[in-house]
Amino acid sequence: MTMPLEPGLYIVATPIGNLGDISGRATDVLRAVAAVACEDTRVTGKLLHHLGIRQKLIRYDDHADAAAREALLARIAVEPVALACDAGTPLISDPGYRLVRMARTRGLAVTSIPGANAAITALTLAGLPTDRFLFAGFLPAKDKARADLFAELAPLRATLVFYETGPRLIATLAALGEHLPDREIAVARELTKLHEECRSGSAAALAGHYRAHPPRGEIVLLVGPPADLRASAEDADALLRAALATGSPSQAAAAVAKATGLDRRALYARALALK
Ligand code: SAM
Repeated sequence: MTMPLEPGLYIVATPIGNLGDISGRATDVLRAVAAVACEDTRVTGKLLHHLGIRQKLIRYDDHADAAAREALLARIAVEPVALACDAGTPLISDPGYRLVRMARTRGLAVTSIPGANAAITALTLAGLPTDRFLFAGFLPAKDKARADLFAELAPLRATLVFYETGPRLIATLAALGEHLPDREIAVARELTKLHEECRSGSAAALAGHYRAHPPRGEIVLLVGPPADLRASAEDADALLRAALATGSPSQAAAAVAKATGLDRRALYARALALK
């Protein structure tokens, strides 16, 4: 990235625990912008202090009033402004959506500097299928709303990814056992931190474990797809290998998609990797 920066909005991902996960580009941008808009100026201020950066901090979240958002957009039109959240990638269960939408509508430059994200980190760790997943953010707090959401998501042939909190985990696992039985579940906790843990099993087994060991810290909850898809995903590599022995990646993907109902484009990407 060339410095000094052009005017515009720079979405900057920050660590979700381990400070070593801030990227070089993120650090350069945080240093080069004219100001950093953030959820909590104390939290972002601490990170900047750790990086040895002195910056003007502006408090911003999506509940900011129209005047505050207009003032920020006016700034973004004439100078480079970063948007950071307390941890991870802005806009992902964090503020920024409205700001980005309005900036784009007005033709302002928007650049994203990627980095840590708890959902993706958990997905790479859990050993559940990654070829299709649905990120659903925080679950509703009320039982009925949560049960309705599970009913809506139940038929999806995808790994489901939720953000969860320690105090609600056991009730959520109980609801999962009731509404999405027979799924493989994973609880990814304190990712990138000292006490990182990723534990898999049935909802009942995990609820039993966490009743005995109340979960601390931050949590991503993952729910594997219905069993028939899991079996197909596991078998897909073997089927692709066999098909690749006699055909091109595209032919192999087409044949395996037909046999399993799995997504042809995902199979094609996998076939290219296997070849
Ligand atoms: N924007 C963030 C991201 O990119 O992941 C997410 C922010 S959201 C307000 C906070 C939630 O993300 C936590 O309640 C937890 O569910 C999840 N989370 C954040 N950091 C985590 C970590 N280190 N380990 C596990 N989950 C984490």
